[in-house]
Amino acid sequence: MVPVPEALDRLRAGNRRFVAGERSRALPSRSERAELAAGQEPFAIVLGCSDSRVPAELVFDQGLGDLFVIRVAGNVVAPSQVGSVEFAAAKFGTRLVVVLGHTRCGAILATLDELARPSEGRSPNLRSIVDRVRPSVESLLATDLRHDREALVAQATRANVRASVDHLRHGSQILERLIAEDGLAVVGAEYSLETGVVTLFDDEGGVGGGLRAAPSLLSPSAGPVRR
Ligand SMILES: [Zn+2]
Repeated sequence: MVPVPEALDRLRAGNRRFVAGERSRALPSRSERAELAAGQEPFAIVLGCSDSRVPAELVFDQGLGDLFVIRVAGNVVAPSQVGSVEFAAAKFGTRLVVVLGHTRCGAILATLDELARPSEGRSPNLRSIVDRVRPSVESLLATDLRHDREALVAQATRANVRASVDHLRHGSQILERLIAEDGLAVVGAEYSLETGVVTLFDDEGGVGGGLRAAPSLLSPSAGPVRR
C-alpha cells in the first residue's frame, strides 16, 4: 500500500514532468502488460472530468496500473462514482483520492447557462449532471461574483470540486470508516488548461466560499516548472 504522502509526491513529480514536456516512460511492453494482467495496485484514485484535455494519466505522467480513474462530465459524484471509489479503496488498498476539476469546465458553463435561461428541452440525463453542479453555482450567484463571469466560473469550478470532495468524504459509510480508521484521504485539485499545472486545494475553504488554493501542496519549494 502506498502511503498518502508518497502518493502525493508521485503526482507532484509527474505533473512537473508533464508541465516540462517530459515523459518518464515508453508505452508498456508485452511482458509488463502480462504482469499487470495478474493484478493491480493503483496508488491513487482520480475522479476527474471527461474533458478530452484532462486525461489524468497524461497530466500526472503515469502509466498502466498506476491510477484508478473515474471520469464523468463536471467530475460530479453520483452513486456509481461513490461505489467506484469504495471498490478501489477496499479492493486495492488505495489510500489517496483526488477530485480533479479544471479551468473552463464545460459542465460549469452549461450550468451557468441553464440557470440564466432554463431550457425545457434538456435531456434528463444531461440534467442529472447540471443538477449536481447547480448548488455550487447558485450560492455564488447570490454574491457580487455574478457581475464577473470569469471570476464566477473560476470560483464555481472550485466550489464544485469541493462539493464532490465533501460528498465522497461524507456520502458513504465505507469511505467514512476508511477515512477515520485507515488513513484514506480525499483531496480536491484543479488542472489549468492554460499552464498544465495541477494545484491542490487546502482544507480550510469549505464548500462554496473562501476557497483558497495551496500551490505549496503540489509544487513545494521549487514551485511548478513553467514554460
Ligand atoms: Zn470539465
